[in-house]
Amino acid sequence: MPHRTGHRPAPRTNAFGGQPASGWRTVILGAALWLVGAPAQAAGSADVDDDAATSDRSGSPGPKAERTLVKHRVVPYESVEDIAARYGVTKAELVSWNRVLRSGTLKAGWELKVRARLVPPPRQKIRYEVKRGDTWQEIADRFNVPEGDLHRWNRDVPRKFKAGQTLVVYTNPKLRKVAAVTSGDPRGPVAIPGEVVLPEFDVPSDGVSIGSPNRGRLSGGVQLPESELYTVRRPEESFGSSHTILHLQQAVSAWRQRSGYDGELLIGAISLERGGRFRPHRSHQSGRDVDIRLPKKKGASPKSDSPADIDWTASWHLIKSFIDHGDASYIFLDYSRQKRLYEAAKDAGATKDELEAAIQYPRARNTNNGVVRHEEGHLIHIHVRVRCPKDQARCED
Ligand SMILES: [Zn+2]
Repeated sequence: MPHRTGHRPAPRTNAFGGQPASGWRTVILGAALWLVGAPAQAAGSADVDDDAATSDRSGSPGPKAERTLVKHRVVPYESVEDIAARYGVTKAELVSWNRVLRSGTLKAGWELKVRARLVPPPRQKIRYEVKRGDTWQEIADRFNVPEGDLHRWNRDVPRKFKAGQTLVVYTNPKLRKVAAVTSGDPRGPVAIPGEVVLPEFDVPSDGVSIGSPNRGRLSGGVQLPESELYTVRRPEESFGSSHTILHLQQAVSAWRQRSGYDGELLIGAISLERGGRFRPHRSHQSGRDVDIRLPKKKGASPKSDSPADIDWTASWHLIKSFIDHGDASYIFLDYSRQKRLYEAAKDAGATKDELEAAIQYPRARNTNNGVVRHEEGHLIHIHVRVRCPKDQARCED
């Protein structure tokens, strides 16, 4: 894995160049910046251990805005018209918000301010490995980009490419109607057919888990970087092993693609920089435990802890993504919430085998079944435990 020079993520900056405005969150990564107007998730659960650990300290909801402030990083060969269409705004509006556009030029890498009416998932730079039988047109369609741009991003690649060849793609995810999913309509556009394509994540390789989650520590702890994929609640409590940080990012990326969920995903406690005792948690000592707030339905109050306000379909996709791409050994969720998850999974088309392998329910809460297991107090968040990598003998389960 490649090394970066430091473990610290880029500092938070405001999309408009100043101090972060209260209630707005800037998230930086990849080909796009996302300024998400989502109000901070609120605390309010009685659970001492873990639910409180994924709640936000500020708790103050942001301003109600019809538009979402987005910072868009211009992708090579993108036009002003493309950007305007992407966010449901006019060209004139874009120019009025960005003096730099008055010159009539547009350069890749520029960051534009957009008061977006539509907020599709951000464009991401990925490397796509050509499969047998692929054509340029099919690949362009899959990532919703013009075929001409695909050629221009890959000038050294011959027109007649071979399987195994790598292409640079700036993906252009379409806005999917999340409302259909969150309204509980199982026939809504839930999963995206086709494979999940994971971007490369640049994770330092020296984060090693030592000992067990309940009695362990972390060497070379890697801090979870800020990302448009999720919100890091407390950077100082977000250190993990290299294996955990990589798989966490992969799983969340896979989940965004699968579910089309475009709301906030709040990542709570992982471990302290050197691991070890981390109150009020019992575990979280060796950089392999991650608390994640369950995604909410669109329009649900950020203060609500009601299970009816949780988007269980999106939650199922999240859990499935951690099983498939996150190397999760266990995912803890209170038994009283597992039925909702189970029903949502069934409605989303999970097979009997999948359900059995993934969720403890409907078997009893004290049985050793399923990746999702009962753990007291995990009502509005899940706790993901990532496996030890095979080559690290000091990591213990
Ligand atoms: Zn936890």
